[in-house]
Amino acid sequence: MLTYFLWIILFAILILFAGAMAWTLKRPQEESGESEEDLEEWTCPSCGFQVQMGTECIYCGEKKPIV
Ligand SMILES: [Zn+2]
Repeated sequence: MLTYFLWIILFAILILFAGAMAWTLKRPQEESGESEEDLEEWTCPSCGFQVQMGTECIYCGEKKPIV
């Protein structure tokens, strides 16, 4: 019973650690690409909605095409 409990704790720590690693690795990539581009307007290629801010269409969720 005790070993079972220890395995759960170990597993939870591993998941938390992996999650934190993935988050810190993903973060700088997003910031470097979006810093200036998300201020300009762009028209969504899928639905034609003019997106004022951000790199994702709020209507259909399409990502901004890389020019
Ligand atoms: Zn769209």
